[in-house]
Amino acid sequence: MSRLNARQREAVHYISGPLLVLAGAGSGKTSVITSKITYLVEQCGIKAKHIAAVTFTNKAAREMRERVSKLLPAHDAKGLIVATFHNLGLTILREEHKILGYKAGFSIFDSEDAKALIRDIMIRDFGDEGEEVNQVQAAISNLKNDMCEPDRAISVACNDHELMIAQVYKTYNQYLKAYNAVDFDDLILLIVALFRQHPEVLEKWQNRVRYLLVDEYQDTNIAQYELVKMLVETRSAFTVVGDDDQSIYAWRGARPENLVKLNEDFPSLKVIKLEQNYRSTSRILKVANAVIANNPHVFEKALWSELGMGDEIRIIQTRNEDAESERIAVEILDHKLKKNTHFRDYAVLYRGNHQSRLLEMKLQAHQVPYRISGGTSFFAKNEIKDAMGYLRLLINPEDDAAFLRVVNVPRREIGPSTLEKLGEYATERDISLYRAVDELGLEQRLPEKAIQKLRQFRQWLERTAEDCQRKEAISVLKQMFTDIEYEDWLYQNSNTPKQAERRMDNVWYLVDSIQRMLERDKGLADEMTLESAISRLLLMDMLEQQQEEDDTDKVHLLTLHASKGLEFPHCFIMGLEEEILPHRNSIEENNIEEERRLMYVGITRAKKTLTMTYAAQRKQYGEKIETIPSRFLDEMPEEDLVWFGKGEKDPDANKAKGRETLASLRNLMDGL
Ligand code: ATP
Ligand code: MG
Repeated sequence: MSRLNARQREAVHYISGPLLVLAGAGSGKTSVITSKITYLVEQCGIKAKHIAAVTFTNKAAREMRERVSKLLPAHDAKGLIVATFHNLGLTILREEHKILGYKAGFSIFDSEDAKALIRDIMIRDFGDEGEEVNQVQAAISNLKNDMCEPDRAISVACNDHELMIAQVYKTYNQYLKAYNAVDFDDLILLIVALFRQHPEVLEKWQNRVRYLLVDEYQDTNIAQYELVKMLVETRSAFTVVGDDDQSIYAWRGARPENLVKLNEDFPSLKVIKLEQNYRSTSRILKVANAVIANNPHVFEKALWSELGMGDEIRIIQTRNEDAESERIAVEILDHKLKKNTHFRDYAVLYRGNHQSRLLEMKLQAHQVPYRISGGTSFFAKNEIKDAMGYLRLLINPEDDAAFLRVVNVPRREIGPSTLEKLGEYATERDISLYRAVDELGLEQRLPEKAIQKLRQFRQWLERTAEDCQRKEAISVLKQMFTDIEYEDWLYQNSNTPKQAERRMDNVWYLVDSIQRMLERDKGLADEMTLESAISRLLLMDMLEQQQEEDDTDKVHLLTLHASKGLEFPHCFIMGLEEEILPHRNSIEENNIEEERRLMYVGITRAKKTLTMTYAAQRKQYGEKIETIPSRFLDEMPEEDLVWFGKGEKDPDANKAKGRETLASLRNLMDGL
C-alpha cells in the first residue's frame, strides 16, 4: 500500500460512494483493485466473502488472484470471489438453476456446440446449407449480449435475413432449454432475467456481494452492465476501473459508452484519473500516445513515466513471412544471450491465431521453449472434446450435442442413418436422444440390431453415471476411458504413435485436473462435486491455470486481444501490415479505430523494449503478394523508430511500390 501514489491511494481509500478509475495503460488500475480488496478486508472490516472482483479473461482473473494472494493471508481471503463475468454467472446459476427451470447438471454449450445446433436448425427449418453458421451464431450472440429476446428480435427484424436469424435464435433457445443447456452468453443473460423476475433472489445476492470491483470495465456489454448495476443497486458500493482507449471487444458486443452511462445511472459517481505509468519506458509511451491520438477522444489522458527514455522502437522488415518468424526466433535467442534474461521475459503478440503456426515451427527449430495462452487450444483438441463429451453425458445424459459427439467414438457401429432416424423420432416426441433410445416407438423405425447397439450404449452410460455417485468418481472416470478402449482408438486415428500417446496424456491430464479440483476444497461447506467440477472445466478455468503453473521459463505467444492487462519486459508485435493489422475486415467496415486501440494495447504491454516486424511479401491463397506496411507505423514518431531490413532507407518508396503492386494485383483478380 505504501507504494501507491497519492491518487491511487485516494482510489483505494474512497468507499463512501461509487467510484470510477479512468486511466491509461499501465497506470495501476488493476493494482488499485487488488490493493483495495486488501484495504476493504483489513481496514474496513468487510469479510472477503462479501467482496467480488470481476474481470474479463480467465488469465486476468488468475493474475488478480495471484496478486491478491501476495497481499492477503489465505484465511482472510476465504470466500473472496475473483472471477470472470461468466464464472460469476455460473456460480449464481448453479445455486439458482431451479427457479429458472433448469435441472442440476445443466450443460454449457461452447461456441462449437452452439454452431452445430444452429447449423442443424438452419438446414432443417430453412433448407439452408448452413454455410453462414458463423455469422448467424455471432448475430445471435450479439442479440443476447444486447439483451434482445427472440420475440423482440423477430418483431424488429428489418429484412428477410434478420428475420431468419431471429427465428433461428428462437428455435435455438428452445432447443437449449429442452437439452437442459445454456450457452456462454446465457450465463449472464439468464442471471439478469432471474434478478428482474425474482427480487428476493436479487436481494440475496446483493447481500452476498456487498462490495463489487470490476476491472477492464470498458469491455462490458449491455447484459454485463445490467448485471453490475443490479448487484450494486442498493449499496452503490463499487469501484470500476477502465480505459476507453483499450476497448477492443466491440465485435463481441462490448459497449465503451457504458463508461458514460455509469455517470448517468449513478449521479454521485466519483471519477479519479491516473496518469503516471509504471510499466513502460517514456519512449514506448510516447509512441503509444502518438498512435492513439489519431482516435477521437471523450476523455483526455496523458500518460507519462519516470522510467527513462529507453531503447528506440525497432521496426524490422523481412523478405517474407517465413523470414519474419525466423528473425523473431533468432532475435529472442540473441537478445537473451546478450542481456542474460529469461525466456519468460519475452512475448510475441499477433493479430490472429493462425499467425502463430509458422512462429511455433521456427521456435521449435531453434529450441526456444514457448507457451501459447489465451486461446482455447487445449479444449479445441479433438481428444479433449471427446473426453468432455463423455463427462458432459455423465452429468446430463440429455445433452444431445455431447451424445452425438461420442456415441460413435470409439466406433460402436451406430451409423449416421441410425442417428438420423433416432433424431427424427426424438424431435417428434420432443425428447432427448438419450431418452428416445429407450422408447418402444423406436422399434418401428429402426432395425433391431441398431436399437440393440444404441441401448447397449445407453445402459453402459447409465451404469457409469451410477458408479460415479456410488464409488470414488476419479477411478470410475479412469475405468470409463479404459472400458471404451479410447487409447486404441487414438492409436488408430493418429498420425504417429507418439501423437497418440500425447493425446492420451491430454485425456489423463483432464482427469487429473478434475481430481485436483475435487481435492482442493475437500471438507469445505461449498465442496466441489464432480458435477460442478465438470461445469467449471467447461469454462476452461482451472485447467489453464494448472498448465500455466507447470510452464515456467517460456516465451509467451498470444493474440493482441488476449494480451490485455498483461505486461512483458520485451515485446514483439508481428505482422504490421495493412490487412493484418489493421485487419482486412476492419478496413472494409471502416472500423480502424478499434484496430488502433488494439495497436495501443499491444504497444503498452512492453516494459523495456518493443520490436515490430512485417514481411515484404506474404503468401495469400497460394499467391505471393507484396504487402503494405501498416498505416499505424506512419503514425509513430519517426525519431523514436529505428528501421532494419529492406525498407530501412526509404520506407515510403517501398510502401508506395507495395500499394501499386497490390492495386494492380487486385485489378488483375477483378478482371478474371
Ligand atoms: P492495463 O491498462 O494494461 O491493464 P493497469 O492500469 O491495470 O494496466 P497495472 O497492471 O495495475 O496497470 O500496473 C502496471 C505496472 O505498474 C505493474 O507492474 C504494477 O505492479 C506497477 N505499479 C502500479 N502502481 C505502482 C506504484 N505506485 N509504484 C510502482 N509500481 C506500480
Ligand atoms: Mg489492468
